Amino acid sequence: MIGIVESNNKVLEETLKYIEGKKIKLALASFSDLNGSLRAKLIPSSRLQSVCQSGAGFAGFAVGDLGHGPHDPDILCIPDLRSMTILPWNKEIAWFAGTLTEDGTPWPFCTRTILLNVLTQAKSMGYTMKTGVEPEFFLVKQGEDGKIAPFDEQDKELKPCYQQQALMRNIEFLGTLIEYMNELKWNVTQADHEDANGQFEINFDFSDAVTSADRHTFFKYMIRTMAEERGLIATFMPKPFSNLTGNGCHMHLSLWDEREERNVFEDAHDPKGFGLSAVAYHFIAGILNHAKALAAIVCPTVNSYKRLGALNSSSGSTWAPNFISYGGNNRTQLIRIPDAGRIEFRAMDGSCNPYLATAAILAAGLDGIEKRMDPGDPFNGNLYMFHSIENEFDKLPSTLNEAIEALESDEVLVKALGETFMETFIKRKKAEWKEYHDYVSEWEVEKYLKG
Ligand code: ADP
Ligand code: MG
Ligand code: MG
Ligand code: MG
Ligand code: MG
Repeated sequence: MIGIVESNNKVLEETLKYIEGKKIKLALASFSDLNGSLRAKLIPSSRLQSVCQSGAGFAGFAVGDLGHGPHDPDILCIPDLRSMTILPWNKEIAWFAGTLTEDGTPWPFCTRTILLNVLTQAKSMGYTMKTGVEPEFFLVKQGEDGKIAPFDEQDKELKPCYQQQALMRNIEFLGTLIEYMNELKWNVTQADHEDANGQFEINFDFSDAVTSADRHTFFKYMIRTMAEERGLIATFMPKPFSNLTGNGCHMHLSLWDEREERNVFEDAHDPKGFGLSAVAYHFIAGILNHAKALAAIVCPTVNSYKRLGALNSSSGSTWAPNFISYGGNNRTQLIRIPDAGRIEFRAMDGSCNPYLATAAILAAGLDGIEKRMDPGDPFNGNLYMFHSIENEFDKLPSTLNEAIEALESDEVLVKALGETFMETFIKRKKAEWKEYHDYVSEWEVEKYLKG
């Protein structure tokens, strides 16, 4: 893997010239913490060159998730110049996704580095990955009592998906967002009102896996900022309302040859008729094989399992997978094949760290390729008819705890994402589960008070 400083040096001169020409005054040297939340330092553009060489310092302990004590030396964030994203709402500031180092070596808790490492493994097998994400979100307001509700009070239909009236009531927000995304050259393809009241989705072109993870990260920041400016909250939380469909974040993906010229998932002569290659089926089998452990990374919160495990929602469908399965253009599957040459992984949700989630999905798929795993026959029925198929398929984990236990015993994923990092991740997630479980909820009081 080419070091980030060397990579920066190749484009440093032209980037600095561009920044000067565009009168960009400030730069955000930013990185994603374990939860995918951004941490940053704001630096004057005149300092960018030196930060690109020596990094911006952060006390790891203050960030919380980085395996550091307060006595440990700083971690250094080196912005990746290739990720430069000028804030569409404040063009004097440029955002950079950073990579973390400690004492000049890659920091094992840097999730962007973890993705780069798995991509290096893919490269050694002759592959690169392209991904497209669909991050769903709600626009909500929060009352003084702390309760949240979809902000658009008129958005009340039981089946509001694609509802034009509700979509267009939000045109100021969505129109501005589309404009911003296209300014960034992300190429927006469509936007719609999703299956829950107050829920939306905007689609943009797929890209190489790192660029997509950077964009996904920035996308969340951008939407949250836009909502805050309008006195709203934009949430990517997997299941903000018990009765409504949750926020998924499906990932579409394909593997390409190293030079990104040929989609190696594509095969017009696929005997199964989906237009996929043998490599794609091995990759699918890898995901199915590691699905339970993978869930802990792509659905990493207590709340994630209220989306995954839900039996139904008020719209009539959850659109989230429950079983470890694959099939054609069928949205009840864990892995859907929407089109020739790509697959869609539907478990992932809005609470994941985009870098980690991408890294874990790729690591699972590569293991399938390496071991030439067979996914078996596709299933094309309705996987929401639980009673008729319950015994045929393995279930996805129904709690964070179950997923974490699966991850703990998945040596392939633990090794691919890094043992030191995984040890901390698992410990933290177990603590998160315990904290949740120890909390006496309103539901419990109501249910058991007089029992
Ligand atoms: P859905 O049918 O699941 O709602 P969308 O149309 O909302 O799908 O999103 C599809 C995503 O898949 C887009 O981001 C698109 O760019 C991406 N995509 C298309 N082809 C590929 C491919 N070969 N590899 C990876 N992603 C792809
Ligand atoms: Mg200080
Ligand atoms: Mg979609
Ligand atoms: Mg959707
Ligand atoms: Mg989808």
